[in-house]
This record gives sequence, C-alpha cells and structure tokens, in this order.
Amino acid sequence: MSKINVTNSSMPSYEEYCEEIKELWESRWLTNMGVKHRTLQAGLEEYLKTPHVTLYTNGHLALEYAIAAMELAEGGEVITTPFTFASTTHAIVRCGLKPVFCDINPVDFTMDATKIEALITDKTCAIVPVHVYGNLCDVEAIKAVADNHNLKVIYDAAHAFGVEYKGVGVANFGDAAMFSFHATKVFHTIEGGALTYADDDLVTKLNVMKNFGIAGQESVVYAGGNAKMNEYCAAMGICNLRHIDEEIAKREAVTLRYRQHLEGIDGIQINPVQENVKPNYAYFPIVIDKEKFGLDRDEVFELLAENEIGARKYFYPNTNTFECFEGRFDPNDTPIAYHMSKNVLTLPLYADLTLEDVDRICEIILEK
Ligand SMILES: *Cc1c(COP(=O)(O)O)cnc(C)c1O
Repeated sequence: MSKINVTNSSMPSYEEYCEEIKELWESRWLTNMGVKHRTLQAGLEEYLKTPHVTLYTNGHLALEYAIAAMELAEGGEVITTPFTFASTTHAIVRCGLKPVFCDINPVDFTMDATKIEALITDKTCAIVPVHVYGNLCDVEAIKAVADNHNLKVIYDAAHAFGVEYKGVGVANFGDAAMFSFHATKVFHTIEGGALTYADDDLVTKLNVMKNFGIAGQESVVYAGGNAKMNEYCAAMGICNLRHIDEEIAKREAVTLRYRQHLEGIDGIQINPVQENVKPNYAYFPIVIDKEKFGLDRDEVFELLAENEIGARKYFYPNTNTFECFEGRFDPNDTPIAYHMSKNVLTLPLYADLTLEDVDRICEIILEK
C-alpha cells in the first residue's frame, strides 16, 4: 500500500510550464509586473468575476497589505475568528491592531454573525472573517453589521478560490478579499496570493505599496514593502488556471465518494453542503464525537498514520491559544471554536487522489 499525503500539489505538464516560461529567457523580465504577472491578473479577474485583482508574493502578505491599505486607527480592534490558520491572526497583530475573537457556528465553522454585535466597542474598526474550508461565511449578515457600525470587512478567502454565492464570485464580498495561491491550495502559483476589491482608488495604492511605495522614479509615497509576485510564479498560475475546472471536478468526485461512506455515521459530522453556494471542494473535514464513534480525533489520526495515511488536525490549536499570545486571550470565550479544534480532522483530498484510496481510507476509519 502506498503512502497517502493529506494533500498533493497539482501541476501542469513539464512541457506546458516550459513553454510558458520560454519567453522570459528572451525578455529577461523576471519580476516587477511583467507580462506573466499582467496576464495572470487579467485571467483571474475574469475567472473570479471581479473588477480588480492585485497579485502578491503570498496570501499572508496580501492580507497584511489589505489591512494596511485600509488605514485603520493604530491600536484599533479587529473582530476575527480563532478557528483559522496562524496567518489570519498574525496579519492583524503585525499591523498593530488587536484581534477580538468571535466564536464560530458549529455547522460550517465560519464566524457566527449573530455574535459580532456584542463584541463591537468604540475601538472596533474592521471584521476579518474566514471562508474556512471554502465554506462561505454569512456574507449578508456580516455586511449588515459592518454597514451599521461603519466597519471595514476584509475576508480571508484563502480556501475559497472559485466559490460562488448565487452566481456572484466570492471575491466580491467585503471591502477586500484575500486569496492564497500556496502550493497546497485548490489553485496555486507555487507561492502566491491576491487581493480582490471593487474600489478603483485602491488599484494604484495597492500596486505601489507592494513595491516599496515607489510611485515614480523620484517619488516614494508610502513606506511600503516588497510583496510582488515574480514571473515564474505567475507563469505557473497561468498554466494552472487553464486546468482549474477539471481540477475542481476531480475534487468533487473525491468529495462525493467520502460522503457516500461517511454520511450518516453515528459520531461523525461531515462538512455541510451550503445552499446557493457553488463549492470548490477544498477540504474534507470531519468532526469526531468519541462518545458516539468510539474513537476520538487523535486516535483516528494515529490509526490513519499507522496505515501511512496523512490526515491533518486542521485547525488545531485555535490561534487564541498560541504561545506567542500567552495570557492575552481566553479560548473559553470562543467555546465552539475550542471544541471543534479538538475534534476536527481533515482527510486527504486532492485532484489525483483515487476513489479506491478514498474507499481504503474510509474502511480504515469505519472498521477501526
Ligand atoms: C494558506 C492560508 C493563508 C496564508 O496563505 P499563504 O499564501 O500561505 O501566505 C491564510 N489564511 C488561511 C486560512 C490559509 O489557509
């Protein structure tokens, strides 16, 4: 039996990628918004059905730049979720802002929009929710609260590439949305990321900020950093974008197979099918209830590991329990997120995972 990893990056053929990068040897234009960068940007604006895309070195920096570009008051409070990757919380902290953690709902793991209002103070300046596992947040309720209190909304859409709600691309919700194009994501550029937004005034600002704030040869207008996507990463993105629909269709088949095996099993909660949402099948999380299932999350993780199958405790631990924040937050303030983090396990999922492998993974879990 061969080893199964939790994820496996999709790649174009070697020939396709080489063909795409060939002209870089002639042009010698390797970074700084070259032709590959511009082509990928246009392709993504079309695919994500959104007016503006700005490309970055990675998703994390994209999120930091989005927060910085909003010019929120120093020391302001940002309502966010602890049930996410370290990046979301760290981006807020690294921008000099204070995360305030809102609990999640126990069905789709996204921020519980009914709990936001109670967390708002006169220092609150923004909300940073996460479309976790590609599950869409309650975008309408979040918009209503934000509008009511004049707050910016920046979505961490790192997991949500290609997701749509009632035909509207996920990129269009909030003041900005961040996508990660890391090698492990549904769509990738090896390392990379993007911001999407509707505000025309942000186009120049974001592009200048990611290039040291340089607006012209003798004009530097922001204390910006360096977060430009290079041409080789953009070329990988151009290739991967050609195959994205096929990629998502294969993930769908894998997901349906998991559902066939695990739906209705006592003690296993599976990721929901959301109404009016076109999903991207990014992850397959299960939540295990030891009382009913017999084994707990860590035992299932170990059982799979013994069979050389890599599952991931994703997201564990909650970001509000990290050592780097010791004494600052109480995970009991977000009890559902705390509970989920201790019982959730994401199973292997990638386009080329065979259905036979899915059968084997589920057999091992169910036969215990
Ligand atoms: C991957 C990820 C990020 C960070 O993206 P990078 O491209 O790796 O910097 C941020 N948030 C979430 C939820 C992620 O999964």
